[in-house]
Amino acid sequence: MTDAHEALRELEERARACTACRLAETRTTVVFGDGSTDARVMFVGEGPGRNEDLQGVPFVGAAGQLLNRLLEEVDLRREDVYIANVVKCRPPGNRDPRPDEIEACKGYLAEQIRLIDPEVVSTLGNFATKLLLKQQMGITRLRGHAYPWWNRTVVPTFHPAAALRGGESVMSQMREDFLLIEGVLSSTTKMEEQEPEQLGLFG
Ligand code: SF4
Repeated sequence: MTDAHEALRELEERARACTACRLAETRTTVVFGDGSTDARVMFVGEGPGRNEDLQGVPFVGAAGQLLNRLLEEVDLRREDVYIANVVKCRPPGNRDPRPDEIEACKGYLAEQIRLIDPEVVSTLGNFATKLLLKQQMGITRLRGHAYPWWNRTVVPTFHPAAALRGGESVMSQMREDFLLIEGVLSSTTKMEEQEPEQLGLFG
């Protein structure tokens, strides 16, 4: 096991015992993340839903199946990518995560990104996109473009749950965004290692 894999495992253990915000009181499991720890692309959603909370794995319901389908269309397999959320514990009733919960949890995500070291981070929906890009604009305006971000590329797109609600129009825009991810991956040459102090990236 490499140092990064070991550090990620330790981080997961820390998260599993975390009580840093009120979501610890109502969660069933901590949904830390899932996928390849050597992934070139990492997806960041909002927070676990009911199925994810029960199973401890992100994106396992209908939204997860849709995500898997979009991945297959650009020749990526679920096991090749890494998937995590902005908050690791389910907000009760699937409400939006609150600012203090995001603040309490964002360090885990920052560490996951640093340790997995993906070339592309695709933010799924408004919460992840606003956290990384620090933009007040909504996902509808921000998607469709690739943004340089701390020696990586951020490609924002809709949350798959929005495609389930929004039908073919949202789905076709997501397809465009996944083609953009594919294009970035095929053109990216790995940049220099990120300095640890850049972990203030969400600060
Ligand atoms: Fe800890 Fe994050 Fe869960 Fe809050 S949501 S208890 S900060 S792991």
